[in-house]
Amino acid sequence: MALEDLRATVTRCSRCSYCKWIPFAHVKSWRFAKGCPSIEYNKFQSYSASGRLCASLSLLEERSSYFDEGLVDIVFKCMLDGCCDVACKINRYDFEPVEVMRQMRFKMIDNGCYPPQDMPLIDHLKKEDNMMMAAKADRANWAEGLGVKDLTEEKAEVVFHVGCRFSFDEELWRVPRTVVDLLNKAGVDFGILGKDENCCGGRVCDMGYRGEFIKYAENNIDAWKNAGVKTVVTGCSDCYHAFKRLYPEEMEFNFEVVHITEYIERLINEGKLKFTKEVPMTITYHDPCHLGRRGEAHVPWKGEQKKVRGHVLVWEPRRPRYNGAQGVYETPRNVLKSIPGVKLVEMERNREYAWCCGAGAGVRERYPDFSEWTAGERIEEAKASGAEAIVSACPHCERNFMDAVAEKNESLKVFDILDLVREAI
Ligand code: SF4
Ligand code: SF4
Repeated sequence: MALEDLRATVTRCSRCSYCKWIPFAHVKSWRFAKGCPSIEYNKFQSYSASGRLCASLSLLEERSSYFDEGLVDIVFKCMLDGCCDVACKINRYDFEPVEVMRQMRFKMIDNGCYPPQDMPLIDHLKKEDNMMMAAKADRANWAEGLGVKDLTEEKAEVVFHVGCRFSFDEELWRVPRTVVDLLNKAGVDFGILGKDENCCGGRVCDMGYRGEFIKYAENNIDAWKNAGVKTVVTGCSDCYHAFKRLYPEEMEFNFEVVHITEYIERLINEGKLKFTKEVPMTITYHDPCHLGRRGEAHVPWKGEQKKVRGHVLVWEPRRPRYNGAQGVYETPRNVLKSIPGVKLVEMERNREYAWCCGAGAGVRERYPDFSEWTAGERIEEAKASGAEAIVSACPHCERNFMDAVAEKNESLKVFDILDLVREAI
């Protein structure tokens, strides 16, 4: 797929603006009715999905220059969280705004145009295999003293892919350490790749650097094959999206991919994990975009685009439809609801219409003010739900919320689901 192949999508946008809102049937209040952080923050049409479709047509028709500073800002100041995409599909069966925005980034970067703030990140990634500005040699420090099997030396069918944020963000180390404890308690034979674990490449792909993504995807697949891995478990939603959707889209991929919340639910159902303690707390669950609406599994498709009666566009056979409905929404909620004492309340925007945490697609690093504002909006929504804590299933969301709460001096607590699970065992 290339931007040129999406010309039909680009030209069929009706400027209806549905992509800026959550669908009207789901709106509960004016305050939390918006769906697109980018248009809401920048307050200019070009910063909506529809505006970016216009910009991409302008690029395709060579009416805009790749080197226009304004265009770079428009293209990259967006989390690719996909709320626009699922809202658009309420009325447009086969529209792909996020795919257009992704391809536009690939094209811009192929042409040497990127936000200048990317340079240190990408340089560091090339040197140390992470964008956390940390040394690769420190990647397994989180696991010190745990005695986890090292899959560069031994074999196991299950690999726990920790991911960059959990590996290097010391304040979050308690989460992967809990995963190790739980998998051990449940008698699972698993291992980690330790300091040789690679970045999943998902985030750098969303940022527009497809070449880097392919390199990491190939490295990870080789490492798993060498270790005899069949199942990949991760607690990070970015990694989950990369393995579930992006890898099989680009290459042969024969691994089962499981988010840690799915694994925990499985262990609970098999009677291998039991909650014995009360955790009395009213919480709200934040759906990570890459586990929810963008976490739908890749569906292989081969076919062609045709025009019926000279103008009606169809795909034969019918293309798979990614409208967010098949994301992972109920599993994390089931795990939370099975913890004694936990009261789960919903925010107004939830599941495929959840407001983004603000960290995605490099926005946290490229545009920190926009990222923090987006997280702050979600914190306001969590407070309005009556919850005393916001709980998520992704370290990137948690880090962004933790920083926003600290900046705003809020009393709202921020947890990973694993924090509550650990308390309940
Ligand atoms: S992208 Fe979709 S929802 Fe947005 S204006 Fe175009 S057709 Fe409407
Ligand atoms: S991906 Fe998110 S920020 Fe970007 S246009 Fe869509 S809703 Fe707005």
